[in-house]
Amino acid sequence: MNNILLYVGIDDTDSSSGMCTTYITCVIISKLKDCGFNITGHPRLIRLNPFARFKTRGNGATSFKLELKSLKEAEEVKKIVLENVQELSVLEDERTNPGVVFYNNKITPELQEFSLKAIRNIVSIEDAENLLNKVGADFYKFKNGRGIIGALAAIGCPLDDKTYELLAYRISENYGKPRQINHESVREMDKDTYPKTFDNLDEGYIAIEPHTPCPVLYGIRSENPEILMKAKSIVKVIEPVERYCVYLTNQHTDMHLQKVANIANMEKFQCYIVEGVVKDKPHVIEGGHLIFTLKDESGEIECAAYEPTKKFRDFVRELEPEDILRIYGGVGEGINKKGTLNIEKFELLELAIPLQLLNPICDCGKRMKSAGAGKGYKCPRCGTKIRDGKKEMIEISRNIEKGFYETPPSARRHLSKPIIREK
Ligand code: ATP
Repeated sequence: MNNILLYVGIDDTDSSSGMCTTYITCVIISKLKDCGFNITGHPRLIRLNPFARFKTRGNGATSFKLELKSLKEAEEVKKIVLENVQELSVLEDERTNPGVVFYNNKITPELQEFSLKAIRNIVSIEDAENLLNKVGADFYKFKNGRGIIGALAAIGCPLDDKTYELLAYRISENYGKPRQINHESVREMDKDTYPKTFDNLDEGYIAIEPHTPCPVLYGIRSENPEILMKAKSIVKVIEPVERYCVYLTNQHTDMHLQKVANIANMEKFQCYIVEGVVKDKPHVIEGGHLIFTLKDESGEIECAAYEPTKKFRDFVRELEPEDILRIYGGVGEGINKKGTLNIEKFELLELAIPLQLLNPICDCGKRMKSAGAGKGYKCPRCGTKIRDGKKEMIEISRNIEKGFYETPPSARRHLSKPIIREK
């Protein structure tokens, strides 16, 4: 008999007060290993639509695959997976609805499409269930089982572009306590491995460290799993690491973004690459958010660089009406619930040349002032008056150049491709 390739997908096991699907997956993998089952390749951490309504944090789902000798082995694996999901999930939280999928056939284009839909759009539990039945997958719903959406998407996701993340986990006694990571060693790791690892630091801030009560101690991101092992050996921690795992991911690939022909075709809760013209000068609103309007021949949309994007707003502030931009970002509910494009990064394609009308310059070299309506101009230095001086049109110099500008690591979405990866 041929070997059986079994895919396992898991999602929606955690709550905002604790736990993490990646941790549960890591525990399950080590229990499977203890029983003699080895997974093939790296497990996957797949990030789905950042606007999905029921996400806890980063909308991540996991999957892994095993090569098994018999159906009996497959049954044994299923039992171990389900027992652990049942035991470790935060089932008491009403928003936690785990789903587990087992699939032992080929990854079809239909499965890949479903996955892309879950990354770029909103899908229903029914959509997932219909497809699972159609392809003959085995699935388990705990409570309403919403997790089957992510579990199936994590199995089917095509990964032409990919990155890796090494996640180190804490012992349970330390959950919720301040993380004990030697920050100097993180800076050293960054110095030794950047740009092969990225998003380690953000100015002085240690970006590898989460700030939630979850089991993750830190996460290091890279295009190369070997570099992650080197990075791990440099980072010093002053608390025990219970376990760690290197995940293959779609993080930082821009997989969530769709090219859109024009602004009128954009919908709420989806993410896009869109070109347009700046309509008005960006202005600050309450909370420190920076807002402007982007227009094209089809319509216009409000764009925002929110307060957490910090210094990124300094670039957005430099934009002028008639600048031509390509914006990468997602349409959230936004201010006034009209839908606001949350900018992840932008490319300034063409700079407008803003002009300013200035008073004439006096013979003494000083710029003149208005002498009052219809009275011409007066020099504030030598007192010369002229009645019919002409205003002068000058170009305002710009403090920004053509090119890419992006949000800092601390404000970056898991799926956003950093500019360093574009090179
Ligand atoms: P964490 O990242 O900390 O593991 P999370 O942010 O991934 O948590 P979950 O607890 O997994 O959040 O909840 C997200 C839920 O939304 C899951 O049930 C998942 O199946 C579902 N979901 C994911 N993407 C979509 C989508 N595009 N449309 C509808 N539902 C989705």
